[in-house]
Amino acid sequence: MADDKVYISANELLADSFRLGNMVLESGFAPTHLVGIWRGGAPVGIAVQELLEYHGVVCDHIAVRTSSYSGIDQQTPEVRVFALGYLIDTLGPDDRLLVIDDVFDSGRSIEAFLRELALRCRHNMPRGVRIATVYYKPTRNRTALKPDFFVHQSDAWLVFPHEVNGLTLDEIRRHKPEAAAILQRAPMTDFASAVDRADFIAGLPKAELHLHIEGSLEPEMLFALAKRNAVAIPFESVEAVRAAYEFSNLQDFLDIYYQGMSVLQTEQDFFDLTAAYLARAEADAVRHVEIFFDPQGHTERGVAFAVVIGGIARALDAARARGVTSRLIMCFLRHLDEAAAEATLDEALPYLAVIDGVGLDSSEVGHPPAKFARVFARARALGLKLVAHAGEEGPPAYVHEALDVLGVDRIDHGNRALEDAALVARLATGGMCLTVCPLSNHKLCVVDDLAAHPLRRMLDAGLVATVNSDDPAYFGGYVNANFVAVADALDLRRDEIVALARNSFAGSFLGETDKARHLAAIDAYVAQAG
Ligand SMILES: [Zn+2]
Repeated sequence: MADDKVYISANELLADSFRLGNMVLESGFAPTHLVGIWRGGAPVGIAVQELLEYHGVVCDHIAVRTSSYSGIDQQTPEVRVFALGYLIDTLGPDDRLLVIDDVFDSGRSIEAFLRELALRCRHNMPRGVRIATVYYKPTRNRTALKPDFFVHQSDAWLVFPHEVNGLTLDEIRRHKPEAAAILQRAPMTDFASAVDRADFIAGLPKAELHLHIEGSLEPEMLFALAKRNAVAIPFESVEAVRAAYEFSNLQDFLDIYYQGMSVLQTEQDFFDLTAAYLARAEADAVRHVEIFFDPQGHTERGVAFAVVIGGIARALDAARARGVTSRLIMCFLRHLDEAAAEATLDEALPYLAVIDGVGLDSSEVGHPPAKFARVFARARALGLKLVAHAGEEGPPAYVHEALDVLGVDRIDHGNRALEDAALVARLATGGMCLTVCPLSNHKLCVVDDLAAHPLRRMLDAGLVATVNSDDPAYFGGYVNANFVAVADALDLRRDEIVALARNSFAGSFLGETDKARHLAAIDAYVAQAG
């Protein structure tokens, strides 16, 4: 059926409406009252009235509304008519009434309008009544009426210029390109319930751009790896580990985080850790991941760089074979000095084939980006992408520094950038992606309440914000849990959720062809979700 639709442009409709006016004019019928049947008859009626007045035929004009509902027998639709008061007050038997609509289909609207008007005007019902429509569908006519004037006869499914509801995004793109660009940021159909919204999020294709692989170590795996590697941990059971994950401040989090790292010893451990995350991400409809790893957290306790990167890269390869693409970003721990970061970059040199970028993480405050200016410059010269955590807890000045001094391609978190209007404008203009982590922000008290989370303000400001899980094993959920929690807290609309998913690919380090492929997959998903 979709191919049978005839799309009418605004210009075509306007021209045809003027043609319709000419037909009325040439017939010699000079209306005293012109009635457009709301909605479709309104734009046509305005054009006809304008043309008549241009030629000296001045008439009163108004719109009335009809609505159809199922009658008692549930077979024949009944039509109600609204807003007749003005006509009843002003019409007289010698007036000439012109009824206008965009299309004469079943004819029931116009029939109901004329019947109701006659009933209520009684002896004041004008004797001269004409019907003018741009389109006439004789095969669909269910009345004894027919238009006195029409421009086109048609059986096609007509789509008028204003119509967008009921069309897929793809149809809007192809047939109403000028509208598509605007509608992208306007609400589409919203969700009937939070469950519907969660279902929509569950299958929505997305990328994850802010994920510390060490932060995906679930209590079960921590406990199992401690046993496998005979690493002493102060927990007697998985439940005890889980209880330790219930931290309430940053220091407690860092304590358990670094304790967790200690169980990661062999290449197989890093493979298992990464493979478990990827399986979990795939279940969340994640199609592309950009993973952080912290080599300094491992090499300083005697685990070789090759062991770490070998296991992670092997799991990423296995996922790639299943269609999940990835980039690997090596982070420098910012509480250590730049010389340590330089040494880490030296160690990474033999593995640049599998390392795509460098980042900056760990405790932000007191360790501004500028501390790592030289090592970032060297990484850039090596062709690596650059990212940095900035504006999570640190001030907007750190975000400025990450941009100006480090020259980053992406900002991780960036929440506090909103405190600086000039910075917001700069980020928006430059299309700078922010990798936002709602559950992490909540758990680490960057926001007191998710309902106060700045994500919507970021979108409204035109920022390329994305949703990510940061350290999902510790902060209460993977990427879909982050989407659902923040969407519920902020009552995010469908178009906002779709924009976040689109941003995740747009802000990724994928090539343009891959980005386009993923964005098309989002469109297809949205169209199919209806
Ligand atoms: Zn992070």
